[in-house]
Amino acid sequence: MSSTPYRRVLLKLSGESFARAGERGIAMDEVVHIARQTVQAASRGVELAIVIGGGNILRGGSFTAGNAAIQEATAHYMGMLATVINGLALQDAVESLGAQTRLMTAIRMDGVAEPYIRRRARRHLEKGRIVILAAGTGSPYVTTDTAAAQRALELGADILMKATRVDGVYSDDPEKNPHALLYRELTYQQVREQNLRVMDATAISQCMEHGMPILVFNYRREGNIERAVAGERVGTLVGPRRDEEPATPAD
Ligand code: UDP
Repeated sequence: MSSTPYRRVLLKLSGESFARAGERGIAMDEVVHIARQTVQAASRGVELAIVIGGGNILRGGSFTAGNAAIQEATAHYMGMLATVINGLALQDAVESLGAQTRLMTAIRMDGVAEPYIRRRARRHLEKGRIVILAAGTGSPYVTTDTAAAQRALELGADILMKATRVDGVYSDDPEKNPHALLYRELTYQQVREQNLRVMDATAISQCMEHGMPILVFNYRREGNIERAVAGERVGTLVGPRRDEEPATPAD
């Protein structure tokens, strides 16, 4: 039985959700924790595709900064491979909880995962499988945020949900400024004009151009992924509101 306003959701999980706070690498208890939340969300009857990041292992841009011997494009490919490592961990964690999954990669690696083919991914979703999408877009110089926007659009998702470590979009970095205001709703224009940290600029532009709503919320609050999928009011919703009202801070 469906108990969600959405038919299909694209969930973006950053690599950091796989590591303990402040650490790098993969902590399987963290992976199982996030897997449990996603399985609970999927049990609401929504079709769930997950784009997984790789920042817990390697980020192309920052890796090159300290490694002059590595070309930037190479570092980005390394970053994309890091997302596949995370994808494999998430796949087993989700399946250990009894849900069906498919892992698809934007860079072919037969024997490890299926190649990403849009029509095949849609078919898996229709059959109720949780589809984990790794290797980003398959192209360097962008982040998995851009991959998430791209896949949300081409898979016909109703909304892109970005799971983060904070409660939503703030007027300033809440981990540094205790007076930062949390916004409940924003337009794409407000995000761009005020340079708010939601997703990278390419991802925002793509969503704005095609009217794809973005929900930014805190995955560290137990049950929040399920709440978001159920349409409960969590986090910050970024959408195509036409009026030019200033951004509204939460009460
Ligand atoms: N990456 C890339 N192309 C893509 C997606 C990712 O080159 O389409 C590389 C990029 O270097 C990025 C790294 O993979 O830094 C890991 O992804 P990301 O930093 O977005 O992970 P997250 O911050 O979500 O954990």
